[in-house]
Amino acid sequence: MTDRKPLETLVRRNPWPQGVSYPVATPLQPSVVYASESPDALDAQYGGQTHGYTYAREGHPNADVLARRIDLLEGAEGGLILGSGMAAVTAVLLGLLGAGDHVVAGDQLYGRSLRLMTQDLSRFGIGTALFDSTDASTLEAVLRPETRMVMVEVVSNPTLRVADMEGIAALCKARGILLVVDNTFATPRGYRPFDHGADIVIHSVTKLLAGHSDATLGYVAVRDPALRKPVYDFAVTTGMTPSPFDCWLAERGIMSFNLRYDRAEQNARALADALAGQPGLARVIYPTRPDHPDHNRAIGLLGERGGNMLSFEVKGGRAAANALVRAMPDVAFAPTLGDIGTTLSHPNSSSHRNVPQADREKVGISEGFFRISVGVEEVELLIRDFTAGIAAAHAAADAAAEGAA
Ligand SMILES: *Cc1c(COP(=O)(O)O)cnc(C)c1O
Repeated sequence: MTDRKPLETLVRRNPWPQGVSYPVATPLQPSVVYASESPDALDAQYGGQTHGYTYAREGHPNADVLARRIDLLEGAEGGLILGSGMAAVTAVLLGLLGAGDHVVAGDQLYGRSLRLMTQDLSRFGIGTALFDSTDASTLEAVLRPETRMVMVEVVSNPTLRVADMEGIAALCKARGILLVVDNTFATPRGYRPFDHGADIVIHSVTKLLAGHSDATLGYVAVRDPALRKPVYDFAVTTGMTPSPFDCWLAERGIMSFNLRYDRAEQNARALADALAGQPGLARVIYPTRPDHPDHNRAIGLLGERGGNMLSFEVKGGRAAANALVRAMPDVAFAPTLGDIGTTLSHPNSSSHRNVPQADREKVGISEGFFRISVGVEEVELLIRDFTAGIAAAHAAADAAAEGAA
């Protein structure tokens, strides 16, 4: 009998050793289940008289620790962490809308959000319409009596147009329509939607907030506490659970968010100014530059906070685009944003590859169009790399023109 004891102690759960000191770094808690002291204790927990975790799909400490930090940034309370930015978008739309409702969204939303709007919601009986978010009068034109929600991004991807947030918020308020802002691009450092009339704020935490391209997560916060439960229940029921490890990584990342953002923004502004006017370049797009189409609105909404995103267009077709990317191998050519290092993307071969050409042309996305997510490296390096890339594109465009002549 005595030889059974060691086996039992190997398998049975032992209490975590407690001490009088506490860990400085947030512990990573992967436990899926949490044990309670008695049925009475569990009742009190489910009844909300005491606080405790039960099952990780319903919530876990690493998600809560992360949520409180983003709440702080957004001026929010009770924000939820979900498994991805798209989980956050989906939980808001399907958790709050039902058959017969109508939702309107900006026509330059993130690609998958746009897909949800144009291809998926109709299968659930939810009507949709798009509007030009730079002009609130185009919103008014598509509103219906059953419109319950408007969803916008403050700065659009990848053309960096700035939404008419004041006009949109005023219209939503007057009609009693929920205003949902996906604040991934602008970040709370650039714009805090709750200070400007938003009812719901969404983030892809994957991007700048986590900041290291190693965690996929989303965030939702609501202003009216009554809206929290339907969003939470939909997310938990459909299994949009965030991984504790991802939350732990993102929390570590978010501690340096303000520092990273300020440095990346400073770099982006300097890089935009250094690239503007270089031979071979058709245009540079940066919200706070005087040549930006929404310059005055950008200054009004964002102050001097132009953000870390910068787009540009080189002359010449695909050959010039290929030459540019090949001439700057040290910058990751990858369709994402918000990494601590600079990444470069080409919408025509990635995010916008399935957008009809006429629609791409309408918003100015050509073969020579690139988007930079500027990181925190030394700006001299960035200016050197992009100057080399643009020169290579220029040479390739010239060669192609000569070949055609
Ligand atoms: C990336 C992104 C999303 C989706 O986030 P995931 O974490 O990739 O699911 C949604 N909105 C915007 C603006 C994004 O950039």
